[in-house]
Amino acid sequence: MSPSSHPTADRLAALRAALPDGGGLAFVTDLIDVRWLTGLQSSNALVAVSPDGAWLLTDFRYRTAADEVLVDGLELVIATDLLTRAAELAKETGVGEVLLPKEKITLAEDAKLAGVLGDDIARTPGPRFVDALRAVKTAEEVEKIAAAQALADAAFTEVILEKGIIGRTEAEVALDLEFAMRRRGAEAVSFESIIAAGAHGALPHAHPRDVAIPAGELVVIDWGAQLDGYCSDCTRTVATGPVDEKRQEVHALVREAQDVALAKIAVGADGKAVDAASRDLIAAAGHADHFGHGLGHGVGLEVHEAPNLSPRSQSTLEAGHIVTVEPGVYLPGEFGVRVEELVAVTPDGPRILTSLPREAAVVS
Ligand code: ZN
Ligand code: ZN
Repeated sequence: MSPSSHPTADRLAALRAALPDGGGLAFVTDLIDVRWLTGLQSSNALVAVSPDGAWLLTDFRYRTAADEVLVDGLELVIATDLLTRAAELAKETGVGEVLLPKEKITLAEDAKLAGVLGDDIARTPGPRFVDALRAVKTAEEVEKIAAAQALADAAFTEVILEKGIIGRTEAEVALDLEFAMRRRGAEAVSFESIIAAGAHGALPHAHPRDVAIPAGELVVIDWGAQLDGYCSDCTRTVATGPVDEKRQEVHALVREAQDVALAKIAVGADGKAVDAASRDLIAAAGHADHFGHGLGHGVGLEVHEAPNLSPRSQSTLEAGHIVTVEPGVYLPGEFGVRVEELVAVTPDGPRILTSLPREAAVVS
């Protein structure tokens, strides 16, 4: 792509190239996909793309914002019922089929489309075309995600490492962390922070409780900032004072499991193989049943997006992918350990975007 081209023009061209041959009209209905394609942030928008045209549909509330994101070859259509209007566009442009993002169209919407399109225009459920495109970040997007992670790292340093957490409740620490991120310019948290002490840390998606954090325990902290639309995601397991040998051993094991996976992150690496590197090591240490989630996921405008690293992954890593590497060991009724890095895949290997040390910090 030429340095002078506009990201929207590049992205529309990439989407067009990803469509099956045959000249249909593809509907992009996911609002984050619409934002990625056009830059428009809207609660009601749709993009339709054919081999020779592209239309941005939204309602009158977004007319001014939509006007500002238009590029050559992208036409604005103001309508009330966007799906009906998009179906009418399909008839007007004379395409033979419309390509629908299958997980994003409800039965009711499909029936509505059938009513407009009749029998002449086929409705073809396709994959979510934009997912694979969004997964490959531009250099500018990588820097935005790096900036979100740097902001989150600074908030963690202030709230967890400097202020300390012993005696504060999980909910208080979560709120404090959110406040520290917002104060530094984050628009939002990427997801509800996890602050989980002791046995509560054995729940991979624990919600922060109104329970004071004790001394001498492990605390799983998983948090992220959203900045300029892009998310960060990181986990650290910290110790509130000295912890017993078992906790130290499990933390060291998880760290090692992360190292072996990080060593496999490369252009062309298979998502299953990267996951297996961590998983096999954890299983060999007798914890096969204690690591029940995938190793990692893509991060971008959404905190969970393509590609993924798991036993069922069908992903092959490409330059520009950003993934998490987050092995964990969860011992029900005892404690949990997870360590998560945010990593950009580059031709020179992994670039770790998290700046925080990975060893278990001992905090007050
Ligand atoms: Zn996370
Ligand atoms: Zn994650």
